Amino acid sequence: MKAVRFHRFGGPEVLHCEDVSDPEPGPGEVLVRVRACGVNRLDLDIRAGTSRLPVSLPHILGREAAGDVIALGPGVPGFGIGDRVLVSIIGACGRCSLCRTGRDNLCPGARRPGINRPGGYAQLIAAPAVDLIPIPDGLTFEQAAAVPIAFGTAYHMLITQGGLRVGETVLVNAAGSTIGVAAVQLAKAAGARVIATAGSEEKLARARRLGADETVNYNLPGWGRRVLELTEGRGPDLVFEHVGGPIFAESFGLLATDGRLCVCGGHAGEVVPLDLVSLFRRQVRIIGSFSATRREVELVLDLVGRGVLAPVIHGIYPLEEAQAVHRLLTGRENFGKVILKP
Ligand code: ZN
Repeated sequence: MKAVRFHRFGGPEVLHCEDVSDPEPGPGEVLVRVRACGVNRLDLDIRAGTSRLPVSLPHILGREAAGDVIALGPGVPGFGIGDRVLVSIIGACGRCSLCRTGRDNLCPGARRPGINRPGGYAQLIAAPAVDLIPIPDGLTFEQAAAVPIAFGTAYHMLITQGGLRVGETVLVNAAGSTIGVAAVQLAKAAGARVIATAGSEEKLARARRLGADETVNYNLPGWGRRVLELTEGRGPDLVFEHVGGPIFAESFGLLATDGRLCVCGGHAGEVVPLDLVSLFRRQVRIIGSFSATRREVELVLDLVGRGVLAPVIHGIYPLEEAQAVHRLLTGRENFGKVILKP
């Protein structure tokens, strides 16, 4: 099969589309022909060697593989040839205390395609049948591959970790990113008022078309003051934060008294100063959020299938263009999801 691999960490130029032997489905596994695979910022970090995740080389990236089952290993119940499936981003062990309490996103023994298993930048992927999620009818492979990380993570952040309630005001930072696009839609679906930030007027206009009530350009001086004006000086009840650095610091300062700031990323600065007095006197909470549970991914897939949420796809590219795709994401030139199509 063809697969994009890298043999050493580095820039986009280390990605090569190569001939690789086909994976063999073992007992309980299936072989999936990959029809679409989502590309994520994390892929860039893994490729560069800065992700702080253990990866063995050569490595095949790709967290979100969608395709159809073309072969079954011994002892696979419940799936047949031709079934349309997503390979779960987290193949949880199902036995540890985190899995048994509904927090399989944190399972230390999880199989994670594109991290500790070969991913979807390939024509074929082998996966345990228990890790497969059926794709709802009416969704294309490209749409399905655009859902798990953006919408699953946004759901986990806003609803599960952030405890978003109807009528609250949410500040969604970097609303032009794939996860920001998902968060704007989910927060609106949950009955919140959404203030979206982004770094260009074009991205802000698109955020408004997705449902954002107000938009603020965070590249303009005084953007935080504008957010306060829009909330009558109170600040947002919940901040959806995945930028880090100065944006995190400003957003923390904007939080309403007793507000929550939920974080799932920090590329613009992973270590930030924190004013503890401001934290406890305003009784605000900073909440970490990691990935999504399998149940949450199934929920958002269902919501997409029912038309409540809609993945925004920036472009679909062949495997051979993986280098160019990584450069595109590095330059943040995309609005919405970038998909590789083997
Ligand atoms: Zn587990």
